[in-house]
Amino acid sequence: MATSVALPTTDELRTIARNSLHRCGVTTATRSSKTVLARTPITGDDLFEFPAGDAADVAAAIDAAHEAFLRWRIVPGPIRGALIKRFGQLLVEHKQDIADLITIEVGKIRSEALGEAQEMIDICDFAVGLSRQLEGRTMPSERPGHRLMETWHPLGVVGVISAFNFPAAVWSWNLALAIVCGDSVVWKPAQVATLTAAACSALFERAAAESGAPENLNVLVPVSAADAHVLIDSPKVPLISATGSERMGGEIAPRIAARFGRMILELGGNNAVVVAPSADLDLATRGIVFAAAGTAGQRCTTLRRVIVHESIADELVGRISQVYGRLPIGDPFADGTLVGPLIDGNAYANMVKALDSAVAEGGEILAGGVRHESNESSFYVEPAIVRMPAQSAIVHRETFAPILYVLTYRTLDEAIALHNAVPQGLSSGIFTTDQREAERFMAADGSDCGIVNVNIGTSGAEIGGAFGGEKTTGGGRESGSDAWRGYMRRATNTINYSGELPLAQGVNFG
Ligand code: NAD
Repeated sequence: MATSVALPTTDELRTIARNSLHRCGVTTATRSSKTVLARTPITGDDLFEFPAGDAADVAAAIDAAHEAFLRWRIVPGPIRGALIKRFGQLLVEHKQDIADLITIEVGKIRSEALGEAQEMIDICDFAVGLSRQLEGRTMPSERPGHRLMETWHPLGVVGVISAFNFPAAVWSWNLALAIVCGDSVVWKPAQVATLTAAACSALFERAAAESGAPENLNVLVPVSAADAHVLIDSPKVPLISATGSERMGGEIAPRIAARFGRMILELGGNNAVVVAPSADLDLATRGIVFAAAGTAGQRCTTLRRVIVHESIADELVGRISQVYGRLPIGDPFADGTLVGPLIDGNAYANMVKALDSAVAEGGEILAGGVRHESNESSFYVEPAIVRMPAQSAIVHRETFAPILYVLTYRTLDEAIALHNAVPQGLSSGIFTTDQREAERFMAADGSDCGIVNVNIGTSGAEIGGAFGGEKTTGGGRESGSDAWRGYMRRATNTINYSGELPLAQGVNFG
């Protein structure tokens, strides 16, 4: 143990949580007698019991959401958009409440928790505009007097499964698009973030009631992973949008596929940046530190690998180590804190195990990895930097903690090969001032990720672009661009306005 962390009292946190829930209009989350024990990683203590649910509640939620869908799908898109507009206004009013709950339940520093709430507001704005743009194409028909076109229709109940580290924003990416697309949602959050989920759902319910929308367009089921099987297996849920670990994706994907359901999978990342000799090292250092140490290394887009040209490796590592040595670590509510707690003891144990493996594989811990003194059940750690040999197994795995592996390269081809050698394919970046290098990194034989940045770290995406990754990250896309098409079904329509019946491909049938 090293430096000691000053913590707020659990009673103070309990009061903030209860007040935020009250202002958001939370009463009870489900009709079930089953409860979940809310907890905060800030002190590691339990807060209070909260209604949860079980498999029977999930089944009832699916039925209720399906009934809501049958009514909602015939409401015009722009009127569906008006509900999301109202929801966005309520999020603006309650931004601080949502952010406080995020900080209490998952330990995000204030600025990042407010950023997550802002991301929800942004996706609402986006979805309101989208509600007037759910457009299909018209194609030339090969037959005279015929028109060929596409229409996009609501899909049904969308099952949203979310991870602890973005307890509100990921749901809102799904919800805002699903609702304007005419769908309804059953939301299974990470149980450690039940309070945040309850507050968000209560605000949405209020927006729906005020907009005259049907009840149960979003039904919250804060159940265990085991009870979520009802959602995974239900033929009444045509789309499952699931965010979490590769392990979770591996468990649910075959079950959804077995019933021919659709899925949007947003799974683990193992994100890297290449730092070229021409890079602006000030910019690179800032981008790297935010992406690697922000959210205490608990983002899917957290920077986990730096692949740096050997000629500048020592200088870059020196700069990063210097900043790491000054990072304020501690109470995420305190002004100036940049690194809050890990979610729990399990996360800390995984970090220690990964660092041990790294050393066993020839790695050298250059800075960090030390746990700060707090109490037995909260875990504040210094982000670690580890120099690794090119070939090592641990670098290929996502450890959900702040560990940054440093690898070196000689040629850009070698850097790209190292970059793409991991199973995951979420986010990537290159720091360079050489346009040829930047273009090569973005080209077909460059980075194989869903997100490819230039002179930006790997985390902190905007909602305007489609978000998601390839390979074991799951291939899903959410949020902006044309991700909305994933929440609708496409019909191809051919209309014959001639008096004849010509057949396609010149077929003659009598
Ligand atoms: P997790 O996989 O443990 O849990 C995620 C969610 O899935 C939780 O709600 C959990 O209860 C549920 N779940 C787990 N197993 C399930 C099963 N068999 N059936 C149904 N539900 C199940 O992940 P976590 O620890 O909450 O979050 C961290 C992980 O999420 C990291 O791997 C991170 O990279 C990933 N993540 C990915 C993205 C992305 O957009 N790609 C975003 C955020 C987090």
